[in-house]
Amino acid sequence: MSFKDSITQTTQIGYFEGAIPVNYQYTFGIAGDKFFRTIKTKGDFIASKCSECGSTKIYPLSYCEECFANIKEYISVGLTGELYSFTECHYDYQGIEHKEPRIMGLVKFEGVDGGIVHRVKAPPEGLKVGMKVKAKLKPKTKREGVVDDILHFEKA
Ligand SMILES: [Zn+2]
Repeated sequence: MSFKDSITQTTQIGYFEGAIPVNYQYTFGIAGDKFFRTIKTKGDFIASKCSECGSTKIYPLSYCEECFANIKEYISVGLTGELYSFTECHYDYQGIEHKEPRIMGLVKFEGVDGGIVHRVKAPPEGLKVGMKVKAKLKPKTKREGVVDDILHFEKA
């Protein structure tokens, strides 16, 4: 008899309440590491470029999602892109209310698939889909090779 066969009503399910401590480390992977190291050292964004089918992606990948080839080429795309969409956020990802609403936008880069979702520093009435925006990075000496090295996007 399997578990599914033996339980026919949810009232038959027993459970324990408690907490399990979980520690983890998240890695960026090969391509993600290149992306954040490039921001840290060169103040630039890179995209992956597939040598087999020509597909380009930001965030960069270590293999091609289109043809599964290994990716060995990464191209500079600069810090300026196009605001593809945006929204006003009143709560953070943990449900804690921001003191002031924040604008989050999807920024796309010319000739590259994908995009970067990040904070946009501007009042919503000053934003338009399609407008040019540029990433504002931390000063080079303060960068750590993490997403927070990107402070925000602002009108280019
Ligand atoms: Zn490909």
